Amino acid sequence: MRIKKIALNGFRNYAFETVELDGGTNVISGRNAQGKTNLLESVYMLSTGRSFRTRFDRELIGFGFSGAQILAQVESRGREQDIDIQLRQGQGKKILVNSVKKTASQLSETLNTVLFCPDDLDLIKEGAAIRRRLLDNAISQIRPRYAELLTEFNRLYEHKMRILKDWREKLSLLDTLEDFSDGMYRVSAQLIRYRASYAARLDRSAPPIHREFSGDGEELEIRYATVSTVRDPFGPAKEIYYDICEHHEKHRQAELDSGQCLTGAHKDDLEIFINGRPARSFASQGQTRTAALSLKLAEREIMLEETGETPVLLLDDVLSELDEKRQAFVLNRIGGGQTLITCCEDEGISRRTGGKVLFVEKGRIH
Ligand code: ATP
Ligand code: MG
Repeated sequence: MRIKKIALNGFRNYAFETVELDGGTNVISGRNAQGKTNLLESVYMLSTGRSFRTRFDRELIGFGFSGAQILAQVESRGREQDIDIQLRQGQGKKILVNSVKKTASQLSETLNTVLFCPDDLDLIKEGAAIRRRLLDNAISQIRPRYAELLTEFNRLYEHKMRILKDWREKLSLLDTLEDFSDGMYRVSAQLIRYRASYAARLDRSAPPIHREFSGDGEELEIRYATVSTVRDPFGPAKEIYYDICEHHEKHRQAELDSGQCLTGAHKDDLEIFINGRPARSFASQGQTRTAALSLKLAEREIMLEETGETPVLLLDDVLSELDEKRQAFVLNRIGGGQTLITCCEDEGISRRTGGKVLFVEKGRIH
């Protein structure tokens, strides 16, 4: 799949701009604060309906504009398709694919992206939230049902958190606590099955990439960690649900005392091992970066296996963070699909990639 053309109207610092992209590598170059990441953000929006930088759509509307529009012509699933996302101040967003109204999670039926930004280089060393986000973003794009479940889970979770925070002031809140817990555990059971199987696929795809990348046969291993009482995360959702309830029984009082949700899929993690040791505690910075890159490139491969098409790869300021050996490895690996790479103008990256160079200056692209 590839994006042929994008038009941005009142999106971030783009007033009215159109850009034609190459089907291979596109290097988006320019000084700081000119609009390079904004362009990548618009592409990410086209595949997920949301930004990777903010939860608030209103921040995406250009200063002084009453609305924003992202229009794109893409080639995917063997045909040309048009995506149109409209944001209006104070209103919900409107998403159209080939003039037909769609939800944000349905966008993944038309366009898929894999984003890699500098934060992802710390994927292994950071807390579990960033690894859950990797799982959530990746699975949502290949399983629209997962995206729906996740939205439902977050709704229940926030509600339950509010109860746990306020029940002392208003004891009647406790009447509905069990219902919210139960809802959370039912949805957790389904999320866990999806996550377990995705983690298993990562554990198949990432180690060969990592082995090649590290050059000296390092063994990467990825294990999925969820609620401790779950015996088989691949098993029937019903059994996972019962296992979660068992955990809940043991932690019911502690939840009330601590005001925290102690049971559920919101605490899941991916445990990463290099040569049998937990990478988070033992790996060097170079090793963890290599592992992070391997995971991201594996995400791209899995998406290709799933959809039969290579997703659009978005590399925001990542290459400049890598040494030359790793840069070369990434550049060799990304052939065969469309890639958008941002970099600061004088890094010489555009020469090394040999792709189309787009120069961004104050919200204009030339
Ligand atoms: P860097 O190299 O530092 O990463 P960049 O080219 O990636 O820079 P962007 O993150 O794309 O820069 O941001 C470019 C500019 O967009 C910033 O100056 C920012 O103030 C501006 N900007 C952000 N949001 C809006 C908005 N809603 N309306 C107008 N301008 C905005
Ligand atoms: Mg940027």
